[in-house]
Amino acid sequence: MTRGELKALIRTIPDFPKAGIQFRDITTLLAHGEGLAASIDMLADMAAPLGATKVAGIEARGFIFGTALALRLGVGFVPLRKAGKLPVETIAEDYALEYGVATLELDPTIINDGEHVLVVDDLLATGGTAVAAANLLRRAGAVVNHALFVVDLPELSGSQALAEAQVEARALVE
Ligand code: 5GP
Repeated sequence: MTRGELKALIRTIPDFPKAGIQFRDITTLLAHGEGLAASIDMLADMAAPLGATKVAGIEARGFIFGTALALRLGVGFVPLRKAGKLPVETIAEDYALEYGVATLELDPTIINDGEHVLVVDDLLATGGTAVAAANLLRRAGAVVNHALFVVDLPELSGSQALAEAQVEARALVE
């Protein structure tokens, strides 16, 4: 499957979650067996040379791609959760979204000091979420050099925001 074919499996929903937002909905990609497999294959090809010892996925859609990728790489998976979900003491990062504000939480005992962690999410918009993810993981002792996404919306300059935070962003489609 080509990247163009993969892109065609992602639908755009106007005015969700509010007026003026063009929401890129990956539900149609997830439901397409060949497309889902191809997206994980392509993410695994990008991730293989990076040498991460864990994959961290951002709740909730980052869990889907991140877990599948961790299985392919043979490494562990770390959930970066929305506020109030983890049953243990956490560290937290607040961040601004394209629409609203949010918090990510991590159980810092899950991260080994100095290990390389790869951040994964479905979509890169402004980069605020992924920068918060990298900051959180670094506070727990991780080295975070790369973040992978299925979709990048380059007009929102997320890869520049990540680059300013010393994280290199790569995506399957724009
Ligand atoms: P950012 O922080 O880069 O502005 O926003 C990215 C985060 O918001 C990701 O966790 C992503 O799942 C979610 N997000 C923002 N816009 C969209 C969108 O159009 N489609 C999808 N699937 N997720 C989005």
